[in-house]
Amino acid sequence: MTLRGGAVATLVAVAALLVLAASAPAAQFGSRPLKMGSKGKDVRVLQRSLTRLGQSTPVTGYFWKLTKRSTKGLERAQQWRVDGKVSRKDAARIAGLAAQAPKAPTATTGTVYFVRGLLKPEIALTAQSPGSAAVDVVDVASGAAVARLTVSFESAGTADSRWNGLTASGGIAPDGSYRFDLAEPGDARAAITGGQTDEFRLRRHTFPVPGQHDYGGAGSRFGAPRSGHTHQGQDMAAACGEPLLATETGTVAAKAYQAGGAGHYLVIQGAVTGTAHVYMHMVKASWADKGEVLFAGQQLGKVGTTGSSTGCHLHFERWTAPGWYVGGKPYDPLKELRYWDSYS
Ligand SMILES: [Zn+2]
Repeated sequence: MTLRGGAVATLVAVAALLVLAASAPAAQFGSRPLKMGSKGKDVRVLQRSLTRLGQSTPVTGYFWKLTKRSTKGLERAQQWRVDGKVSRKDAARIAGLAAQAPKAPTATTGTVYFVRGLLKPEIALTAQSPGSAAVDVVDVASGAAVARLTVSFESAGTADSRWNGLTASGGIAPDGSYRFDLAEPGDARAAITGGQTDEFRLRRHTFPVPGQHDYGGAGSRFGAPRSGHTHQGQDMAAACGEPLLATETGTVAAKAYQAGGAGHYLVIQGAVTGTAHVYMHMVKASWADKGEVLFAGQQLGKVGTTGSSTGCHLHFERWTAPGWYVGGKPYDPLKELRYWDSYS
């Protein structure tokens, strides 16, 4: 009797542990205090954030000595109270700091994809039985899942799943580094078996002139005086014939020739931001016609000097939503251009 009773008690205890493990909430970083012994996804977020803030910490999901040491290191560096624990308030401060911190070196490595791009990051799952499984797209910097791909299997086998760069709520994922994590093996008992298993980068835009280019002086800027008007874009000098790339995935809203001005020009209405991208003085008409879809990074033409132009260059304009001469306004594109140039 005693033996049997003990065995039953043990079984009950094991069952209770299993239930606990299965139903443990996926804690959001900052939703509870973290200290020695804490376990969970939020601990992983903390560990990545600490590393990002200069306190190198292994990402184990388990708050133990090294995490405590890093936490103390950060507390000292920030002149906070040093206790090696992370209160909810500390978590908010750490998240804020990590968001501002320069990207880790790994953030600049890896394949580049564009939001709604032609090529999409793809992950292969292999299932052992019919059912479904789920993969999370995880923002490497914050550790947060921004999107979930659910894959259904009618039988055991392998299936590919692609991500278009949109978040679970339908928003646009910010530029950054991402990776696929198996979220739920599910009843399909699936595992990741191929595809984009390494970290990758996601961008909304690419730079329009990948070849050698020059932003010129004050006369090339947005707002520079011209006879009878002000300059509505940024000029970038480049050799005639250099490729011009679509800066954002979108639809050709206009394609025309203007002898006394823009020369051969093309306007893309961005499908990601709803803003317009304008290319002028192209060597000849773009192959892409009005209504055609262009993907970010796709070549749309070549640098030229057609129209009113004194040398080979791209005159590039940006217009706010709803777009070019349909209610949008031109704005200075230089800041964006320099950012796109920095990683393209
Ligand atoms: Zn110009």
